[in-house]
Order: sequence, then C-alpha cells, then structure tokens
Amino acid sequence: MEIKKGTGVSPGVVIGTAIVLDAEDLVIPKRHVPTDQIPAEIARFQDAVAVSRKELTTLRAETLAKYGKEIAGIVDFHLSVLKDKSLLKQVDKEIETVETTAEYAVSSVMRRYAQQFSQMTDRYFSERVKDVHDIEKRVLKTLIGQKHQDLTHLTSDVVVIAHDLLPSQTAALDRTHVKGFATDVGGRTSHTAIVARAMGIPAVVGLGDLVGHVSGGDTVIIDGERGVVIVNPDADQLAEYREGQADFARHEIELRELIDLPAETLDGHAVSLQANIEGTTDIDTALYNGAQGIGLYRTEFLYLKMGTEPSEEDHFQAYAEAINAIEGRPLVIRTLDLGADKYTQAQLASPERNPFLGDRSIRMCLHDIPMFKRQLRAIMRASVLGDVRIMFPMISTIMELRQAKMILKDVTEELEDEGVPFRQDISIGMMIEVPSVALMADQCAKEVNFFSIGTNDLIQYTLAVDRTNEKVAGLFCPAHPAVLRLIRDVIRAGARNSISVSVCGEMAGEKLYTLLLLGLGLNIFSMNGPDIPEVKKIIRSTTMEHAKQVARRVMSFDSERQVMHFLREETRKIVPEAF
Ligand code: PEP
Ligand code: MG
Repeated sequence: MEIKKGTGVSPGVVIGTAIVLDAEDLVIPKRHVPTDQIPAEIARFQDAVAVSRKELTTLRAETLAKYGKEIAGIVDFHLSVLKDKSLLKQVDKEIETVETTAEYAVSSVMRRYAQQFSQMTDRYFSERVKDVHDIEKRVLKTLIGQKHQDLTHLTSDVVVIAHDLLPSQTAALDRTHVKGFATDVGGRTSHTAIVARAMGIPAVVGLGDLVGHVSGGDTVIIDGERGVVIVNPDADQLAEYREGQADFARHEIELRELIDLPAETLDGHAVSLQANIEGTTDIDTALYNGAQGIGLYRTEFLYLKMGTEPSEEDHFQAYAEAINAIEGRPLVIRTLDLGADKYTQAQLASPERNPFLGDRSIRMCLHDIPMFKRQLRAIMRASVLGDVRIMFPMISTIMELRQAKMILKDVTEELEDEGVPFRQDISIGMMIEVPSVALMADQCAKEVNFFSIGTNDLIQYTLAVDRTNEKVAGLFCPAHPAVLRLIRDVIRAGARNSISVSVCGEMAGEKLYTLLLLGLGLNIFSMNGPDIPEVKKIIRSTTMEHAKQVARRVMSFDSERQVMHFLREETRKIVPEAF
C-alpha cells in the first residue's frame, strides 16, 4: 500500500482498477550487441514490425468503419511507412554496423527519417513528423514488450494513471469506462483537470512519480477532494473510502434537487449559469446539470480529435449538432485556441522555446488566414440555426482584435456574394485572459459585444506561473489580490460600457469564489457542467447585499491567504457543508 499526495482537481472518490499509460518519451540507451547476437536482434526488429503492421491493419478497418476514409488515411500513412523496404533495411543495417539493439537502431533511423519530413516546406509533409514519432513509439513499445494502451476500446471500468494526459489522448477517450484520473504532472487548470471536471469524475494531478509505483491491474483509490491516491489499499482504507464514496453520492443527490430551480439570490437577483464544453458529447452532462447555455465551446478539440485539420464542413456539422442539442439556449463558439498545452510541442517541426508565450490561439489563426476563414465561414453558416455567438481567444492587443474582426467581415462578404445566409447581427466577444487587455478593458469594450474572462490564462500571465507545471502549482491562485483587481476592473468596465461579462475559467466553477464573483457584479458564470449545482446552491443561499459586502472586504486584503480564509468562512456560514 502506497499513499501519494498531489493536487485534487476534481472532487469525488473512486476505487478502481488501474491502467497505466507510460511517459510520452521512451528513453532508449545505446547498448553494444556482440556480433553473434546481431541476427537475433534483426529478427526481433522484424517481428516487432510484423506485430505493429497487424495492429495497424485492425485499427485501419475499425477507423474506416467508424470515421470514414479520410481518417483511415492517417493509418494508411503509418502502414506505408512500415512497409517501406528501404527504411526497414536501414534499421537492419544500423543494427549490423553500429552493433546495437533493435530499439536503439529503430529510434535513430526513425528520428533521421522524421527530420527529412520536418525539412519539407509543404505543411502537409512537415506535419507528418508527428506521425513518424507515433510509428517509432509503436514499434518501440512492441520491442520493449509494453502493450500499446488503447483508450478508445475499453471493455471494463478503469482509472487512468499517466505521466501526463495529452489533449489528443483525452479527446479519443472512451469516456463511459473511465472513472478517474491520476497524473504525475499538471496543475488545477491543466487539461486533465478540466476534462475530469467536465466528466464529473475524481482526479488528482501533480503526484510526482506515480506511474513508477502502479502497475496495470492494481487497485487504486483516487480522492479528488483531498488530493490523495492510494495504491493497493488495505481493508481499513477500503472501508473508509467506501464510506466517503457514499457521503459524496448522498451530497450529489441533494444537489440534484436544485437542477430546475433558477440561479437566484434570496433577494431575487438572477444570474446565468452556463457550461463549458469541448464537443457535443459534453452537452448531455451540461444540460443534465441545469446549464442555461454554453458559455464556452472549446473548438480546438475538433482538431485534436481528428488529428488533422477539419474541413469547413466538419466544423459546420459539429456546430449544427451542438445547436440542435442545446435547444435554443445560447452557444458561444470560441475560435481555435490551439498551441501551448493544446498541441504537443514535440510534434512540431521546430518546437517553441516558450509555447505559452508563443504562436498560440488567435496568433496562430492570424498566421494562417485560410484555416481561420474555414472556421469562421462554418460558424457564420451555423449562426442562422440558433443563438450563436462568436468569441476570439487570447487577444493581447487591440490591433489583433481588429484584425480578427476584419477577417470575419471578409468572410461575411464572401458569404453574402455567394448568397449563403448568416446572422447579420451576430454577437462578437473577446476573451480577457492577458493582463494587457484587462488593463485596457474600457477601450476593448467599445469594440465588442461581450467579454469573457479566461481566468486560467489570466492567472498564469498575471502571476508568471505556468498553469500546467505542478512544481509551481502552489503559486497558481485565483485569490491573488492582483488577479482579483483585474477581474473587478473588467467587470466594472463591462458595466460602464453596457456589455455583458462572464467568467469562463475554472474559477467560475469553484465554490470558494462564488460569493466574491457575485458580489463583484458578475452575471454569467460558465463552468464545467458538474460544477453548476453546487455554485447554484451558494447563490440561492445568499443575498446580493451579503455578496457585495464580502467582495468589498475581500478587495481590502493584501494576501491570497487572507482572501481564501475569509471566503471559506463566509461560504460556510451560508452553506455549512460546502467545506
Ligand atoms: C481560460 O484560459 O481561462 C480559458 C477558459 O481557456 P482555456 O482553459 O481553454 O485556455
Ligand atoms: Mg485560455
């Protein structure tokens, strides 16, 4: 039995069977192989290629049946590489001449091969680098004897233990069988945390070296509230946590009674509680929890799920499906926010040194206008199907915002020329997630119809804390007075300029901050679906006067510790079971 402590990022307790995903990069040492063992090494390599080809052939058939020819084409590329005779010969030769292991030879030959792709100017080919890395990993895993864990085909309930979970892995996840996550790395707003909260399953991140201490099939307890993971628990621990599970379930049942009630304070002030989604599959959970709309549709997951750039039609279908599912409620579609944590830097031809400060999000779109336009066209075409709004992420200068709006205008003119209908008065919003625009909120407010404060990035950029780095997770804090001042001022600027303001970062769904955000005058809270009932309970248990008093007091503090302590006490007064 081993107890590990990390950061609890999604509440609840699960006791489950582990599947373990290993670290992304396998370290392959160069080992000398005596001459007489070289034929055996070559045979091992050839066997591994045969096994990998067989896996890929099965995967191809399944992909073709499920997603069609275009996606199956990706698997075709992997297969063709493993059938490339000259490439396979190079590996045989490397084993012979360098007198090394099959693993080392595969790794060096495939990395050279990937380099050739990365030097190609055509984007299609340069982006095949990531496929070559994937193929390399598949063969290596067969050689090393690790089973390639396939998260898309789970047959029984599991808890996923990983070094890190890539957005592309969680996008492909068979969500019905995954009951919990625990990862070595990550912080409160890293992708794993957001997905776990959206799925309503417990998760703990930043556990250091958990992967090294768990084997597939071990029983694991994940306590998402306390941030604890227990590997192979004893009978007493199992009994204790089963009790905890039962308490949590009872609490959930109590909250369910609030689902159809309005998010209104005791003195009649109503706010809107909306949900964040990564795709249509999250909408059921959102509506089940009483979401009044979708305040943030993270459309980059379309790209991550497909592994290729979606066509205009792919975008359109996804938006039309979402609009249909939410039955007239508002839908805020955020344009592509790829880059940084939502793109594996290792997959890029030339990884960025500081990806969070690099070519991400709106910057990436403004560097690839044809791609940006494809998405904008699809959003505008879908805009006539429901209450669609459009939002630009990661704006850091007013010129960027104007440029994005200009491209949107080009798109609408094109649609007009083609006689394609679209919503003329579509609401255009921007995310406030970089301090530069939070400080210029008054000027920005004149250019858009709404603001949405992305606290995950706003905190990261204000406090200089990487939101995904567990080593500095303790410094990532929404309660920092500097962050709170920015939020207060953006809400005020919105009110002064008569535009609506929402918060769509994780802070909006954290019960500790509900009273404060309400008291600061926030009208729209957008969060992961499962967080809605608890936030609603707090709102329904207070008055606007109390919330404003709380906000005033909080704004007089100079440390996050004071802020958190006070908020916990005030929330406990109205909802004792909250903490
Ligand atoms: C944010 O930064 O707060 C946000 C909502 O965007 P994302 O988490 O997708 O970066
Ligand atoms: Mg963001």
